[in-house]
Amino acid sequence: MLRKMSTPILTGIFACGLLAGACQSGKTLHSAPAPLASPDALATPSTQPRVKNVIFMIGDGMGITQMTAGRLREFGPNSKSRIESMPVTGLAHTHSIDDLITDSAASATALATGYKTRNGMIGMLPDMTSAKTLLEAAAEAGKKTGVVATSSVTHATPASFTAHVALRKMEPQIAEQQASGNVDVILGAGLQFFQPMSTEGSDRRDNRDLLAEARENGFQVVRSADEMAAITDGRILGLFAPKYLSGLAGEPSLTEMTNKAISLVKDDPDGFFLMIEGSQIDWGGHDNDPEYVIREMIAFDKAVQAALDFAEADGQTLVVVTADHETGGMSITKGSFGGDSLEVKWTTGKHTGTPVGVFAYGPGSLRFTGVFDNTELPRIIDDLWQLPDFPQVLSE
Ligand code: MG
Ligand code: ZN
Repeated sequence: MLRKMSTPILTGIFACGLLAGACQSGKTLHSAPAPLASPDALATPSTQPRVKNVIFMIGDGMGITQMTAGRLREFGPNSKSRIESMPVTGLAHTHSIDDLITDSAASATALATGYKTRNGMIGMLPDMTSAKTLLEAAAEAGKKTGVVATSSVTHATPASFTAHVALRKMEPQIAEQQASGNVDVILGAGLQFFQPMSTEGSDRRDNRDLLAEARENGFQVVRSADEMAAITDGRILGLFAPKYLSGLAGEPSLTEMTNKAISLVKDDPDGFFLMIEGSQIDWGGHDNDPEYVIREMIAFDKAVQAALDFAEADGQTLVVVTADHETGGMSITKGSFGGDSLEVKWTTGKHTGTPVGVFAYGPGSLRFTGVFDNTELPRIIDDLWQLPDFPQVLSE
């Protein structure tokens, strides 16, 4: 059983942590490491081929402790998670342009465009000019593109790769830009912003039917896992819930969406760019709910495995995993070796300013060793791709 500790603990949270739990469990810390959990350590070749495809994966609110909690639950202390099995690691700073504590809009905009902006802004700079996103640059280069999320596809993270608005809450407008845009794959939730106000549950203030507009724009629109499974080529807009995915019957898992997205873009001779988000790790952090964090963390880790499996077979795909920020100031202060009993303490119900991990596999992955500002990550991908005109401020 997890014990939720909401009392702010501001000092000493790193003094005992896992060691205390390990000592209390009566087990030695010097036992031989168990074999690695799936996958086996992925090799990084010393000379790397060109980067054709990029799968950019963001765990929203995924601090190192969130990753650790998921790993302890699933594999125990002597094994690595799937993300941790990636061979190249770094750290990224997450602050926004004028706030040490970023929100998901500013951080996703940094990861998408290579520019810092203010909290709340989506693909847009503080002076209200738009910045080209890496997804848009990839599309200009003829690559197929897609975004996958377990939140609404209009939520800050996927929106920052596919839209340009001044405020993250402008989700009806974000939906309009997505429905009329040229992204090939959009999978997640958010029906409430695509259906006319006459439809029950709609959050639109007009009677535009963006599902119909998306169809006219060439999307195949699907609303269940079965419908998604039946799509084998072409463009897809899959919206499986009004607001967010919650594991209900008929919804695809993040891994299923990841595999479908890959299958729909993988045959483009020019390559592809996918952004795949574990959206709700952050929401577990805001709730100071360890079980929610662990559940979402494990789901995201499994989706990363799906990406790694494709990349390993393909050989020309770079996978980069990072987070937009940490949420909750999560710390593990006690626990059993099996991870079934973890004492978790939180310092806030909001985001924190700690750096986040960067993990990479595949061609170009060695470039992700070191400590980065979050704006550097898309610039490195662009450099590997050698796309023209990125980063770029777009004039009206
Ligand atoms: Mg997000
Ligand atoms: Zn958050």
